[in-house]
Amino acid sequence: MGVRLTRYTDLALRAVMRLAVMDGEELLTTRLIADSMNVPYTHMAKTIAHLQHLGVVEARRGRNGGLMLTDAGRNTRVGELIRVLEGDREAVVCEGEAPCPLAGACRLRRALRDAQEAFYASLDQVTVADLVASPAGPVLLTLGSAPG
Ligand code: SF4
Repeated sequence: MGVRLTRYTDLALRAVMRLAVMDGEELLTTRLIADSMNVPYTHMAKTIAHLQHLGVVEARRGRNGGLMLTDAGRNTRVGELIRVLEGDREAVVCEGEAPCPLAGACRLRRALRDAQEAFYASLDQVTVADLVASPAGPVLLTLGSAPG
């Protein structure tokens, strides 16, 4: 497959989408998000901590505490978020343990970087809020919703 996100990034996006459908009155726990998105709790906890650090997710303490998406998180462009979550990962590993002799002068590497930029630019047309419009939103709301 040409374009593949890390599992970590995908988990973060699942968490963000699950939180994005909430209206702010009901807050979710990491456990509920993990269970509803079919992700192990420890992985989800790590992801949520990262999203908090990025200012995408906020935790409210107290009896009615829990997690919520920040306004900045809701308006974040999906390309921007994926860029941060994926880090500087290139499509091909040109250096490292067995460096490719072409690294540094390779036109393919440059073309792949340009393609990666185009990929992110395309995803920048979509915000997190857009991701939870119908049909995704109503489905997300049914996943592991807190017993009411
Ligand atoms: S051929 Fe180019 S893109 Fe492929 S590993 Fe070597 S430097 Fe990287």
